[in-house]
Parts: sequence; structure tokens; C-alpha cells
Amino acid sequence: MKNQIGKMLAVITLLAFCTGLRAQTDPAIEAKINSLLKQMSLEEKVGQMAQVSIESLGGWKDGKFQFSDKLRDAVVNYKIGSILNTPGLQSAAEWNRIIGEMQAQAKQTKQQIPILYGLDNVHGVSYVADATLFPQQIGMGATFDRKLVHDAAVITAYESRAAGVPWTFSPVLDLGTNPVWPRIWEGFGEDPYLIAELGKAAIQGYQNPLTSKQKIAVSLKHYMAYSDPRSGKDRSDAWIPEHYLREYHLPPFTEAIKAGARTVMVNSALINGIPTHVNKHILTDMMKTELGFTGFIVSDWQDIENVYRRDKITANIKEAIALSVNAGIDMSMIPYDYKAFCTDLIALVKENKVSQARIDDAVRRILRVKAELDLFNTPLTTLKDYPEFGSAAYEKAAYNAAAASITLLKNKNDLLPLQANAKILVTGPNANSMRTLNGGWTYSWQGERTDQVATKYNTILEAVQKKFNVTYEPGVVYKPNRHFEEDSIVSIDAVVKAAANVDYVLLCVGENSYTETPGNINDLSLSDNQIALGQALAAAGKPMIIVLNEGRPRIIRKIEPVAAAVLDIFLPGNFGGDALADVLTGTINPGGKMPYTYPRYPNALAGYIHKPSEGNSNPQGGEFNPQFAFGFGLSYTRFRYSGLSVEKKIVQPDEFITLSVTVTNSGNRAGSETVQVYVSDLLASFTPDVKRLRAFEKIELQAGASRTLSFEIPVKDLAFVNPNNKKQLEAGDFKIQVADQSATVTLAKGIIF
Ligand code: BGC
Repeated sequence: MKNQIGKMLAVITLLAFCTGLRAQTDPAIEAKINSLLKQMSLEEKVGQMAQVSIESLGGWKDGKFQFSDKLRDAVVNYKIGSILNTPGLQSAAEWNRIIGEMQAQAKQTKQQIPILYGLDNVHGVSYVADATLFPQQIGMGATFDRKLVHDAAVITAYESRAAGVPWTFSPVLDLGTNPVWPRIWEGFGEDPYLIAELGKAAIQGYQNPLTSKQKIAVSLKHYMAYSDPRSGKDRSDAWIPEHYLREYHLPPFTEAIKAGARTVMVNSALINGIPTHVNKHILTDMMKTELGFTGFIVSDWQDIENVYRRDKITANIKEAIALSVNAGIDMSMIPYDYKAFCTDLIALVKENKVSQARIDDAVRRILRVKAELDLFNTPLTTLKDYPEFGSAAYEKAAYNAAAASITLLKNKNDLLPLQANAKILVTGPNANSMRTLNGGWTYSWQGERTDQVATKYNTILEAVQKKFNVTYEPGVVYKPNRHFEEDSIVSIDAVVKAAANVDYVLLCVGENSYTETPGNINDLSLSDNQIALGQALAAAGKPMIIVLNEGRPRIIRKIEPVAAAVLDIFLPGNFGGDALADVLTGTINPGGKMPYTYPRYPNALAGYIHKPSEGNSNPQGGEFNPQFAFGFGLSYTRFRYSGLSVEKKIVQPDEFITLSVTVTNSGNRAGSETVQVYVSDLLASFTPDVKRLRAFEKIELQAGASRTLSFEIPVKDLAFVNPNNKKQLEAGDFKIQVADQSATVTLAKGIIF
């Protein structure tokens, strides 16, 4: 009976998240927009397409941000439709005042169209003081937990509305395929299916239903393939043929649009030498026509200007505006020189270089989202209606998410958990830093102010001190006010000496905070100083636990062998220290799984999605030997898999593969497990990937308990995109693998669709 209920619940949960809500346009809203469009002048329409950064509209006076006359100039004279960014960390009440003043200006315009304000709430409402901060998306990816991602988005939407902000530039759906790229931590990991599933859960939590005063519109980013530059450097060229774009990068966006995502932000870089901002095929043909997207496309920061200044494909900004708007950009994140943008775009329409129809289409999309958010009736939401803002219950949810993200990668002889009051030496540059726990986009763009702001939360050191008998020696520290990569040795000798008097060493290493281009690096290895600290500690002979606190997988090959245990905490947010301490005591049994492949060598960066030639089965000799595999993560208990069975051995293209498998907690404590279903196409006319994740479910099991899970995988999901950009299913055998269990199904006939 227990098994049956478990089975039913698993199927129900899966269905709830699979039935995406495709956004329908509402006839009443469409009628309102049509009538508005008829009354609007060209100047008013172009103004709606312009987005300005708030710092250009005022400055700090008497300890607070004050608008100057520039606000009126932008909103009333230039009819600007959207504002973004932060003048610095503000309280929710201050945000209410700021947004209220903007909306008051909008009320003075002829059409009284409300301003749409947007913020990068990428792990909570991080530009609003006292809001709840969750792990960064990479940590949420490691949870493999749709509900947890959904619930975090619900809280973030609520707190954003408490501040008066109805739009977030989140979630990131970029594929974490290139570990060198400085923004890999802003996404859910490496796998398109994992990203699509967690992306849908986030969208439901943020948006559904959009008319609610507790919801916000999302902006999917960064459409698409931004994460996969050939060099690994931010905002540089990706070389990706269209069938690979469609196979790997497009599916998370496709699913997110089906789930009703209302805005999309464009890849700031280039694909195959074409700046994405002028790529009509990608923006209009694929996103708007093929996917039927009815929301609007916003540029990334200054990126229309970059078409001219950086990418050198137009002789001036005006031509770049023409190309980008004609390619399908609806709103330009300008973000400063809006007057030139408005003047140029008006002139372009008058010169017939941009059609009136294109302008109307863009404005219709923008007004639609404003109307769907009910901003015409409620341009400002205020803190008093959001009593749960920053509540203990929300903080508990953030703690739970941090705990669920912690991933146990090594635990020799079951070293962890540790006994109470064990003597521990805590060391390393990440041991006593709130900045490193949170990463970038925290209280400021690069996250450099976090230690001054997040004083009420515990660093790793502070949290561990509450549970164990702790000695602290930093060993290595990040240099203050310098490039994020720079660290220096305080004293390795002092650390080694201190190790003599303890039972265990907790070595906290990784990276300092960063985002975007300032986060570019030239060497993926962990810094020399941190490696030196780890190696010196090996000689001290005490069991060492390495804690990885980093945005991307820095190579640890030279110190991992000397560690008895390794925990990856990613960027867990303000409760990361507490959650880690509870994992060390055993109050929390870790259940995170690697959301990306952790490389062992700097020149062996293939991810788990690769062709056989890259892997161990290459008869001419291949080696796929990452430090930690995608999907890998240990527990303090053990899980045994049994009885994998498929309902039908021979399937048709329109059917599902229905399979079930039993998981038993064979250890002696409760724990969570992510059941992962991989499928391999064994023979195809287009070299298949070695394996692909096609389904997963996170479960909790008491010691000794078993549960049978069912999965239904649409056979069409097993198609590959062929070089003609069509999906192709070929008859033949597919191997299904769940942990150590496997089965084979045969597809009776092939189709191209
Ligand atoms: C980033 C985006 C972000 C935008 C607005 C850009 O530089 O690439 O991810 O949403 O700025 O802050």
C-alpha cells in the first residue's frame, strides 16, 4: 500500500509540473491595448520600448537616493516605459517610495501608462534590505527538487512585490556546459532537461497567476547559448550549429515559453559571429513565430550599442538600433542615453527603416505584460500588504534550500558526520566570509559588500563554532578591494601547527564573489595559495574535510586525494554556514547531486553529454574521467535499487515509455535520493550522445523503507535533432539506466517531425 501511494504521488507531482500553462492572450486585455495603441503617438510608442537605469535619474542626498528633474524628463517628456537596476541597497519601504515617485510621474502623462520596474532577483530580492536570500541557482540545481525551486520563487515574488517591483530578470536557463565561463553558477547546471524542469517550477512560482499582487513577471535569460562561448570568456563568440542549438540550448526556453514565461532577455554575446541582438532568425523566427511567444523580448545591458561599439557590424548606433529592432528586440535596456535611442528610433520609422507595424508589435507586447500584471490598476504594491516579508518562515525555507543543496562528494570510511564537540581546525579563505557564501548579485552587482550587510547571519566559522570545539587559522585570505581572484597567504605554518591539536581539519576553499566579465579567469585550477594550504595540511596527518564554496568547479586534483571527505556547498546564501554545520553534525543528511560535471584536469572539460569518441568506450582509446560526475552525490545512508521494469518492451513514436523502479533505504538513517533515469540511443544515423537524463524525482525515505516510482517518458523525447534541424526518431534499441539497473526498449518505427 505504502508503495502504491508513493507511486501515485510521484506520478501526480510529475504531471503537475509537466502540464505547462501556455500563456493565452486575454481578449479584454487585447481590446484595451488596441484602443491604447490607436491613441498613442509615435513618441509615446518609442518611449515604451526604452528602458533606463535608475542611477541616471538622480543621486544620493541626505543619506538617501533622490530623483532629480531627470526623472520627469525621462518619464513625462520622453515617455520612458521601463526602469531597472538599483542605486544601492534600499529598504523595502524606500523602494516603495522610489517606485511610487516614478509611477506618480507616469500618471502625469497623457496615456498614464505605468512604468515597468525590473530587478535581478536571481537568488531572492537581493537589492532589498532584509529580504530572504536563497542559494544561487546552481545550488538550487543541486537539489534536483522542483517543489523547493517553486517555493523559493513564490517567496521571492512575494518579497519583490512587497518592495513594489513586479518584474525579475530571472530564471537563468543557460546551459552550464563550459566550467570556465564566469556565470555557470547563475544557472541550474549542465543538463537541458534538469534546467527545463527547474525552470518551469520557478516560472510557476514567480508568475502563476500573473494578475495576483503576489506574483511577478519573469525574464528568461540569456536567450540563447550565452553560456557556451568558445573561449569560456564572458560575452564572446559561440560556435554552435543550429541543430546543436536546437538539441541542447533551445529546449529549456521552449518549455519555459510553454509554461507561460512573459519576457525574454537576449544573449549578450555572439553566435557564429552574429551578435544575438541582430539575429532575426533566433529572435523572431524561432522565439516569436515558432514558439508562439506573446510576451516581449528585452535586450541585455547596453547591447544594442554593443552591436556598434563592440561587435563592429554597424557604422553607428542608429544603424544598430534599426538592425536590432527589426530582428525582434521589443525593449532596449539602453541603459543611459535614452534620448539618443528615442530620437534615432523615431527617425528610423520616419525614414521607413523600421516599420510602424514592427513598433506596434513591440509596444503591444510590452503593454500586454503591463496589463497582465494589472499595473494599470495597481502601479504600486507596498510593504504593509506583505506581512510575511523577511519572516522566520521564509528564512527557514532558505535554510532548507541551502541544506538540500549541499552535496557530499567523498566520505572515506564514513568519516562524516562528526561526533559532537569534536575538536576542529577551521581554515581557508572561505571559512569566515558571508560574501563567499552568497556570491555575486548580492546587495550589489559583484557582491563585495556582503560582509558589511549580512552581519546577522553566520559564516561557516561562526556556525561551526556553535556546534564543535573550534580553532581558527585563516591560512589564506582574499585580498580586500582587489580583483576577486587575488588571495594571499597569512601563515601556512600557523595552520599546520594548529592542526596538531585537533581531531579534524575543515578546509574551506573556493572563490570570492564575482559575476559577468569581471569574473573571467585564465586558469580553472584552484589558486596556488589554496592548493599550497591543502597540501601542507596533508602532512599534518589529520583527517581533512574539504568544503568547496565556489561559483564554478575549480580544479582540486592536487588536494582531493589527501582529503577524507569533500562537500560542495556551491553558493548557498545567508544560511549556508548553518546548513553546513548541521551536515557536519548529522542533523542534516546531505542529498545534493552534482548539477554539472566537475572536471579533474583543466584541459579535459567535456561534460556528461558527449559522444562515444570522447569517452571510455572509444576503441582507439578515450578517457572520460571527471573528478565528480554529473548527478553524483553521496548520503550518510545507502540506497539500493531493484526491479527496474518497463511496461512495454516495444513502443511506438506516439507512446510513452512507462517504467518503474524500487528504491530502498538500506542504511540506518532517513535520507533523500534523486532517482535519475538516463536513456542511451544505442545506434543511430547521427552519432548519439552516450546517455541523456530523461526523468528524475527526488524522494525522502526513512531507514529501511522502500518506494516504487513510476516514470512516463514520451518516446518523442528520445529524438535527436538532425543536421537539417528536424527532430528525428529512429527505430531500434534504447537502453534505460537507473543507478545500477538497466532495461532495453525497442522503438518499432522511426519518424521525422
Ligand atoms: C546581465 C544580465 C542582467 C542585466 C541587468 C546584464 O549585464 O548580463 O544578466 O539581468 O545586466 O542587470
